[in-house]
Amino acid sequence: MLSQKRDSPSRVLKGTVPFSQPDEKWMALAIQSARKGIKKSAGGPFGAVIVCGGRVIAVAHNKVLQKRDATCHAEVNAIRLASRKLKRFDLSDCVIYSTTEPCPMCFSAIHWAQIGKVIFGTNIADVQKRGFHELSISSRKMKREGKSPVSLKAGFMKKECLALLVEWDQKENKKVY
Ligand SMILES: [Zn+2]
Repeated sequence: MLSQKRDSPSRVLKGTVPFSQPDEKWMALAIQSARKGIKKSAGGPFGAVIVCGGRVIAVAHNKVLQKRDATCHAEVNAIRLASRKLKRFDLSDCVIYSTTEPCPMCFSAIHWAQIGKVIFGTNIADVQKRGFHELSISSRKMKREGKSPVSLKAGFMKKECLALLVEWDQKENKKVY
């Protein structure tokens, strides 16, 4: 499309994107990235992948410790990467996979990026149990209270995502925040 504007995805009408079923290979990629982050002590045990039109656009893990930046959650990092790659902030034709339920900050970033669908494994309570300083506001509540059109899929590959948190539990010299 020659006239395609960079600020918005082509041929997308809000709320009409036919997102396909969750795909295990994309969550596996998010898990792999989170595992890399654990090994490097980059931050918490969290990974995210953004997929657009059946293609991976961004793979990221949490880098709060590595970057000394509290906003460097996996989802925010993935959104920044995807926007840089697609040269637009509007990601309404994209799906984000996150190993853990987005926190309110990430949910808000997903909202501002207008991502159409969020697929996650473990939930905020699973992470709170590990001592992370999470706000107790679920994505479901953010969606409901904020009247967000984003579609949510919880508990996808939960067992595999939970295994990540167990690996984190077993890590020596880990830093929770
Ligand atoms: Zn977050």
